[in-house]
This record gives sequence, structure tokens and C-alpha cells, in this order.
Amino acid sequence: MRYAVPVYQVPTLAVAGRPDRFPVRRIYCIGRNYAAHAAETGLSVGTGTPGISLKPADSILIESILHYPPATAQLEPEIEMVAAIGAGGANITRDTALGHVFGYAVGFDMIRRDVLAECIKNQHSWDLCKSFAGASPVSALRTAAEIGHPSTGEISIRVNGELRQRGDLADMIWGVAEIISRISAYERLEPGDIVFTGTPKGPKPVAPGDRLHGSIAGVGELDLKVVR
Ligand code: MN
Repeated sequence: MRYAVPVYQVPTLAVAGRPDRFPVRRIYCIGRNYAAHAAETGLSVGTGTPGISLKPADSILIESILHYPPATAQLEPEIEMVAAIGAGGANITRDTALGHVFGYAVGFDMIRRDVLAECIKNQHSWDLCKSFAGASPVSALRTAAEIGHPSTGEISIRVNGELRQRGDLADMIWGVAEIISRISAYERLEPGDIVFTGTPKGPKPVAPGDRLHGSIAGVGELDLKVVR
């Protein structure tokens, strides 16, 4: 095969304890999945379908350094558990959904909060608030075969050692099985898809020089430095 322009390399995640890597296909994001965070957004919660959005796969960041993106003065990390799909399927039922999960990781769903606010105000699509280089830092995956399917345990992020967000996976409004079932009603999930499952209360802006440390009990940790 010859290509008219250079082909980009598929982004991949490390798999803890294994030599092979996980190729990322699509990145789904669930919004307002912890009641306390949903309340602070001032938007409705718990009804109908969860908010589902997509980020480009090439926003995956596996290095521990993030260059502060342009066109924002309010960059915020959302600490989230990431579920990685190992087996595809459409119209997946809640009862069978966890069987489609390859593993879990710690992720920061980076967001230009000021861009989001402006887009909402103008009723524009808000893709640009989450679509930029380095917008999706993700730790190594731990396989479900190894750790099971975490549904309780502390999820937190510290910035320069100071606690910024702390919640518990048990506070998720839609659990991983429900999320997979609902996304797959809209589009067939494929191996390589990953899902950011939402963030607890209290995301706050970070600045160049800040050191971020995310932790999810039973899943792992994620360290990131923001630079200019
Ligand atoms: Mn998020």
C-alpha cells in the first residue's frame, strides 16, 4: 500500500506486566457521572442517557509531560477511570457488558474549561474544548483478568501535593456495564475503543510547572507535569 501523505502511528497504551501494547481506536467520554460533580455544573443528571462525547485517538498522551495547549486560560484535568474494550459488539446488554472489557487505567480527561463555557453559551459544538495534543493522558492498563472490574475505591488527584478531587468509584451514576451498554446502542464498539467514565466533584485549573498525581484504588496511578 502506498499512501499519499505520511500515515500516522496508531496510539497505544502499555499493558502492565505484558510486552504487548493496546492500540487505541476511539475515545469515548462520559459526562456528569458523579452526582456531586453534576450538581456543580448546574445541569440535569441521572435522566435518560448519560452525556457521551468523543475525543480524537491521537490526543492520547503516554509521556509524563504535557505542553500547555493554546487558546485557553483555564486548562483543567478531570481524574477518571478508563475502561478499555477488548471485544467489540453492538447493542450489548448490561448483563454481558463487562465481558467486553480488556482492562482499566487511570486517565486525565484534560479540558479547556473556558472554551467549553464559550461554546455552550453560543450553542456551538464543544469538540475543541477536549480535542488537542496531549488532551488524554492515560496510565498503563491493568487487565480485568488481573484486577477484576473495580466498582468501589478511592479516585483522587493531587496537584503539587495538594488534594484537588477525591471521590469513590461507588458514586458513579452509570457503572461501567451500563455505560458500555448505552454507547453500544448508538455505535458498535470495537476492540481498542476506550471509555473515560466521568470525574468526581471539583476539577480546578492547572498551570505550567504543576505536577499532577492521579490515583485510583486497585487500578493504578498517573503522574504528569504541565509545561509551557
Ligand atoms: Mn470528563
